[in-house]
Amino acid sequence: MGRIDDADAFAQAGSPACGDVISIYLRIRDGVIEDAKFESYGCAANIAAASVLTEIVKGKRLEEAWNIDWQQIADELGGLPPVKKHCSILAVGALRRAIRRYFGDNLPEWLPKDLTSVERQALEEEEMIERIYGKLRR
Ligand SMILES: [Zn+2]
Repeated sequence: MGRIDDADAFAQAGSPACGDVISIYLRIRDGVIEDAKFESYGCAANIAAASVLTEIVKGKRLEEAWNIDWQQIADELGGLPPVKKHCSILAVGALRRAIRRYFGDNLPEWLPKDLTSVERQALEEEEMIERIYGKLRR
């Protein structure tokens, strides 16, 4: 847990499903994740998922880290009840958003141009607020 002040990649993402919000910080050297930290304002399952994820990605190449599946995180936690799936989806989605933002317009070949489904479920804070308030207005 905690933040990396001079992080090379950062993303904050939230899940409208239960209001979890997570920040992910990465230190990257030569395409390898040297350090990863997170801050979570979410439920216990989200904190657990984020802490497993940040441990797993350390020392991994960005491409390997990108390919970590949320199911893998859930398994690592000994399985999550279906209602808590979004917590590990959110952690993986935030990681992918951080990696995508790190590359900006120069996406490598292995990184899909369109947002993957876990990224779409891990909304940027602004999108989340928009979506939540949009629902309230309807
Ligand atoms: Zn949650």
